[in-house]
Amino acid sequence: MTVPNGWQVDIGLEIHAQLKTNSKIFSGSSTRFGAAPNSQASFVDMGLPGVLPVANKAVFEKAIQFGLGVGAEINRVSRFDRKNYFYRTFRRLQITQMDEPIVVAGKVLIELNGKEKFIRITRAHLEEDAGKSIHDAVDHATAIDLNRAGTPLLEIVSEPDMKSAEEAVAYARKIHQLVTYLDVCDGNMAEGSMRFDANVSVRRESAVELGTRSEIKNLNSFRFLEQAIEYEIARQIETLESGASLSQDTRLFDSEKRETRQMRSKETSTDYRYFPEPDLLPVVLSEAFIQSVADTMPELPDDRSTRYQASLGLSPADARLLSSDLHLALFFDSVACEVADPKIAANWIKGDLLGKLNEAERSIANCPITPDQLIDLIKLLEAGTISGKIAKDVFLAMWNGMNISVREYVEREGLEQVSDAGALEPLIKNIIDANPKQAEDLKGGKTKLMGFFVGQVMKETSGQANLSRSTPSLAHCSVFEHFINMGGPALLTSSSGQKL
Ligand code: ADP
Ligand code: MG
Repeated sequence: MTVPNGWQVDIGLEIHAQLKTNSKIFSGSSTRFGAAPNSQASFVDMGLPGVLPVANKAVFEKAIQFGLGVGAEINRVSRFDRKNYFYRTFRRLQITQMDEPIVVAGKVLIELNGKEKFIRITRAHLEEDAGKSIHDAVDHATAIDLNRAGTPLLEIVSEPDMKSAEEAVAYARKIHQLVTYLDVCDGNMAEGSMRFDANVSVRRESAVELGTRSEIKNLNSFRFLEQAIEYEIARQIETLESGASLSQDTRLFDSEKRETRQMRSKETSTDYRYFPEPDLLPVVLSEAFIQSVADTMPELPDDRSTRYQASLGLSPADARLLSSDLHLALFFDSVACEVADPKIAANWIKGDLLGKLNEAERSIANCPITPDQLIDLIKLLEAGTISGKIAKDVFLAMWNGMNISVREYVEREGLEQVSDAGALEPLIKNIIDANPKQAEDLKGGKTKLMGFFVGQVMKETSGQANLSRSTPSLAHCSVFEHFINMGGPALLTSSSGQKL
């Protein structure tokens, strides 16, 4: 949807990302998803009086990795606060960071319809997650599972820089991509590892001040994020056009009705009556600690994408795709540096490999094909040992599990290309003889028929004939020359357009 004429839209997102640590932010309980209710809630997570929280170092490492990933400042001193906020799944006042968050002032680059734009990140702060209400476990009662209570969250707050639902989704995807790439968060939205709050306002095109916003809470998919924002934009514009005014409110999205509904009028930060956390000291980060975290960081996706374009000659779209996931990028790197043309490696990975992985709903991390196998395959292809068509078959065999080397497989199955003129010449001659009409038409200038003849040769040889002009043994083959002379360069390309 485009924004209606005469209006502009401003959107800021607050993204809650669960940090991928083994234990909780202030206790040693496990953060594993799916355990029996309340089996992973310690006294600290339950908020019992008299127990003390202890900050988990791994949480800071993850937050710093994120901060460095978005080019932000890492506060050398950050503090925790308590937030007065009642919800039944919090057993005590929530521990969060208010005035002095760990990460401030970063930015990420988004790309939409070929245009690039920076979205500024105001801050990212640490806080603990709440437990979960379970409505269907006990008759006429709501049960509470505190396993999630105390799971570390990084709340990433953007500036209101996004001007449409599409931009907001592009930004949310970019953050999702970055945190999973950095292994800061597992990104599993079905399990609630990433949730979005969308702050949306509209204003007349000429207005300088931002409009009155509403905040739509807890959106757990990109689709719901987009739908909720679209609905909200339309609702706000309609309200203002009818002459009514908007109040700042907090809303929920009903994904069945596809509408947002008011949950409460917005509380301001004074309503939360924040106060300094009494049980945790300020967190002071040493340069050495920050440096040690920086040393563990992989090359960032945007830098990688730039490098793939500049030094390997990949297209911007391919470079972005292959650098979007660290496992994918490492797979590509291993193959690209071993073969003659990195672009061939890119094509196999983005086409055949990702195609198969998507079909099987598998991630590259548990891909049945190894980089070494793909290297062998591409090398055999580059050396002309196997044809493009046969390479596809070998690829499928690799996918289905090959317990011998690619080379051994090709030998065992007799898949090498036939480049021997002595073998090809009679075969080509027979085909010409068996198709006199087509041969006449070809001679008469219907060069399209070349594809037909190449197809016939391939059929006869199960795709193994090497019809490339560079095949030395064929250069002096009379029938073949004749064949070439009839069709010219078209001979070099099979009917499927693939170079032989
Ligand atoms: P609070 O802490 O009360 O939720 P913040 O000022 O921290 O408020 O803003 C929360 C989010 O709302 C940020 O992402 C910010 O960019 C966004 N935001 C603030 N004002 C507006 C507005 N008028 N329209 C759209 N988004 C806004
Ligand atoms: Mg907020």
